Amino acid sequence: MNIFRSLMKSLVPNPRTAFGAVLLAAVLGVPGNPDPASAQGEVNLYSYRQPFLIQPLLKAFTKKTGIDVNVVFAPKGVLERLKAEGANSPADAVLTVDIGRLHDMVEAGVLRPVASPTLQKNIAAQYRHPDGLWFGLTVRARVFYVSKDRVAPGAIASYEDLARPDLKGRVCIRSGKHDYNISLIASVIANRGLDEAREWLNGVRANLARKPQGNDRAQAKTIYEGLCDVAVANTYYMAAMVTNDKAPEQKMWAAATRIVFPNSDGRGTHVNISGAAVTRSAKNVDNAVRLIEFLSEDFAQKLYAERNYEYPVKAGVAPHPLVESWGAFNADSVNLAEVAKQRAAASRLVDEVGLDFGGGRS
Ligand code: FE
Repeated sequence: MNIFRSLMKSLVPNPRTAFGAVLLAAVLGVPGNPDPASAQGEVNLYSYRQPFLIQPLLKAFTKKTGIDVNVVFAPKGVLERLKAEGANSPADAVLTVDIGRLHDMVEAGVLRPVASPTLQKNIAAQYRHPDGLWFGLTVRARVFYVSKDRVAPGAIASYEDLARPDLKGRVCIRSGKHDYNISLIASVIANRGLDEAREWLNGVRANLARKPQGNDRAQAKTIYEGLCDVAVANTYYMAAMVTNDKAPEQKMWAAATRIVFPNSDGRGTHVNISGAAVTRSAKNVDNAVRLIEFLSEDFAQKLYAERNYEYPVKAGVAPHPLVESWGAFNADSVNLAEVAKQRAAASRLVDEVGLDFGGGRS
């Protein structure tokens, strides 16, 4: 049996899973004899999130529940894959970053609603879809990195300030078409309306020090180099730079800058999420829900905070000490589903004002 098992290993699905065990038993003509773990079955996951972050969580989940997790890591194309596979998709759940991607999956009809008291308890309403189509698991704030030397504390305090005439030639930002900025601009539309958002974005364009380019960390570099005084970026990149022993120059970029939580004293700082959802095609619905519930509990929430410097979505779980050192802030309380509805308008606005063609230098 053991010899057969090893011979068959490359030909059959994972024998630790229920499906694999049944198939293996069928092939070998013996009754299924799954080990205790496989009795709980499996769950199939498509993940945009990186293996270094997710693997330890999935391992802990399997250890705790006996449910095996089969995961496909994909930096892009998950939605296209789900659409192409339709009802035959093997995916039971997806893990992704950015409300934009979750919203696109809702619009494409590839998700199914989930009612879970655990998820409703662990995740504040603003961070989950009203009908349970997706659930936020971590929170990241889209903040300002400002020059420690050239920007006095309190001098720049709101997204609206980015359009202030005295900031002419001092603002840096990555492409307006990037998901992170689309969501930020969508949040301005959701809060202020399209006309005010247009006026504001025109003001931001007029203040750009250079054509929008690079990633979030590249904006910190511009401050270090003296090209910009204020930049827009996500919180966790600051921690990633501060702790980056592989690229120590990033520590200097971080050291030149300070985090400001825009609008924290008003409507709240714009935040985004990473999240999870159960697919419409799911065959292992209960296991998929259990996995997402596990990811919303203390163990997983702590690991997200420690490994990726994101804010835990579950109240009462502390952020990483480095993240905590930046201080507390108030998050915009608009439901992210409402923000997501303005993403298409935000994208059009970026084109309309020509944000990516602003800035004197390139
Ligand atoms: Fe990121």
